[in-house]
Order: sequence, then C-alpha cells, then structure tokens
Amino acid sequence: MTSSNQQAEAAKADLVLYIDLNAIRKNYKILQAKAAPAECAACVKANAYGLGLEQVAPALADAGCKTFFVAHVTEGEALRALVNSARIYVLHGVWSGNEQRFFDHKLTPVLNSMSQVDTWSAFGRDNGTKVEAAVHIDSGMTRLGLDEQDIAALEADPNRLEGLSLVHIMSHLSCGDEPDNPMNQAQLKRFQSLRRKLPAAPASLAASAGIFLGSDYHIDLVRAGIALYGGRPTSDGTNPMAEAVRARARILQVRDVDSPRAVGYGAAHKVIEPARIATISVGYADGYARSLGSLGRACIEGITAPVVGRVSMDLVTLDVSAVPREKVVEGNFADIIGGGANLDDVAQQAGTISYELLTRLGHRYHRIYMGAGS
Ligand SMILES: *Cc1c(COP(=O)(O)O)cnc(C)c1O
Repeated sequence: MTSSNQQAEAAKADLVLYIDLNAIRKNYKILQAKAAPAECAACVKANAYGLGLEQVAPALADAGCKTFFVAHVTEGEALRALVNSARIYVLHGVWSGNEQRFFDHKLTPVLNSMSQVDTWSAFGRDNGTKVEAAVHIDSGMTRLGLDEQDIAALEADPNRLEGLSLVHIMSHLSCGDEPDNPMNQAQLKRFQSLRRKLPAAPASLAASAGIFLGSDYHIDLVRAGIALYGGRPTSDGTNPMAEAVRARARILQVRDVDSPRAVGYGAAHKVIEPARIATISVGYADGYARSLGSLGRACIEGITAPVVGRVSMDLVTLDVSAVPREKVVEGNFADIIGGGANLDDVAQQAGTISYELLTRLGHRYHRIYMGAGS
C-alpha cells in the first residue's frame, strides 16, 4: 500500500501511475513455480515495459531473479549498474565496434546472424580468450536467428565458434498465446533438432505465454515479460497474475447536459438524452490511444464510465450518467488502467495489446512505486 506521504504527493498530480513492486515480485514467484525446475528469467527491455527499469529490476532481483534479457546494449549497460551479479543477455546482439562495451559491462550478446557470430568470435580470439555468448535459432518466426543453413555452416566449420563459449541457445514462439496452434509443436520440434547440432548449452523457448503451454516448452529457462507486469499470459479469460499497474487521471470538470449537445473534437459524440459528462486529465500524449475514442472504458469508484467523443492530446470525456452523482467529484480521480479498467480489456478496446499500452505511457505520469525498499 501507499504511504501517507505518497498519497499526499499523488493528490497534487493530475495523472498518477501506481506501480506495485510487490505484485511484480509475486508474479515472478508464480512464474518461477510454474516453470520449475527450469529457471525463470525476466525480460526488462524498453524500461521494463515502460514501468521503470531502475525500480523493477532490483525488485525482481530480490524476488530471486538471476537472469535478465534486454534488447539494446544501452539497456544492458543501465541494467548492469542496478544488478551487479546477474546474467544479462542482450537480444539484439553485438556489432563490430560495440564488442568492448559488452566485455566491460559483462553483457552476454544473443548472436542472431552469422556476421554476429563471426564478430564476437573474432573478438574472443583477438583477446586470447573465449567470450560468452548465446545463440538465437530461428525455429519458424523468420525474424531473428540462425537458420538451418547457418547451423550447417557452423557444423562444417566449428572453428568459427573458436573464440566463443556458448552458454545459452534460444528461440522464440510466434503463436505462444494460441495453445492449440500447431505452430507451437512445430517450432518446439524444429528447435530441439537444430540446437543439437550446436555445442551443448542450456536452452530456452518460452516467453510468458509459452510458460503456460506445459513443461515441454520450459526446457532449461523461460523468459517472462508481460506476465510479470500483470498482463494476461494466455488467451482464455482467466488471468493468474496480480495487477501491477494502475493509472488514474484527475476529474477536471463534471457537467450536466440537458439539451442536445456535441462533445469534443469533430463534434464526434452527440448527447441526445440528458447526461453527465466528466472531462479527465489524460490524452493521447500520455499513451491513452486515440483509438479509444468512443470505445474506451474508464472506471470511477468501481463503476464503468464509457469514453465518449474523441481522445484529445491532454483530455478525455467520459459519460458518467450511470455513476452516482456523489461519486463523480471534480478533483477526484478516475481509473483509466487497472482498478476496474482491466489492462488487457483497455488494450483490446484500443485495438492493441497490453504491451503497447504499457510501453507508451509517456512522461507526464506522477509515478508511485509501492513496495519499494522491502
Ligand atoms: C520480449 C521477449 C520476451 C518476453 O515476452 P513476453 O511475451 O512479454 O513474456 C521473451 N523472449 C524474447 C525473445 C523477447 O523479445
């Protein structure tokens, strides 16, 4: 829970983002238990999915997380300053000219292509050592990773791996959130057969959704992302994860509309019957997608209030006719994500996914971290 100090700070802001580090720790433990005996790693790329690397990474480390994934080398450098002894994999891999940064910050590149293999192997050889590496195999997604020909080339010429110590082999599922999609089985099979052609190393295939596909998909390690942050990891209705994010916007004005009127830009919403309209302090500049216009649903004291009219840069209008008058008070707050406005539901109303909603939250939120320093 928030301290009275934090509550006083939140009361001064027009837009507040509560990030519950205890919920994130709890989610880590749920996923670790589900994946055991495999290890659970955490994906903290894109500033921990928009929630704040600086707070989230140490919270995960004290929940027991020892392995992290980021996308960019700059993210790896920032993370190294926060988690001293953890293993950090950099998913985008290493480029010629960047090798020393990996070495200096003890970052392990995920090698995605033959040019990356050759670059990193040469760096090890030139320094008279073996540098640690992960290899990404493309098992069917056709995005990043070594394909069958690349692996055949490495089998034919093992010297290309001479400067490397292979510590991990990974691949990624394209349809992990669809349990019945035959693509999952096909990718698992392909991955298992291709990885046996490389020097033996622990392996991973599952992201959050893959953790729920069963133990065949866990192999040695799983790479959890969205589920840590409370996103629904499976496509069926239930969400076993704890809510970690709650975004609240101040109610700036409430008005009774008793004659026909238009609301917002483009006069896109017409009030016909008498209604009450509340204008709240959030807009597309805060990642509240413009596509939520006339489709989104906020929540006031637990009661749903639909978005009416267009989403502006800084403002959204809600129809609060169904919310008891005494609950819609100017200066109070409406929940826009979490607290009754379920993250995945809001993303779906916006025509996107929770991942995009979180990573676009923007810079105007007053951020409050609950459970920090425990
Ligand atoms: C982002 C990412 C993950 C985590 O995915 P979630 O669906 O958020 O759990 C795992 N593996 C790779 C390669 C990724 O890029």
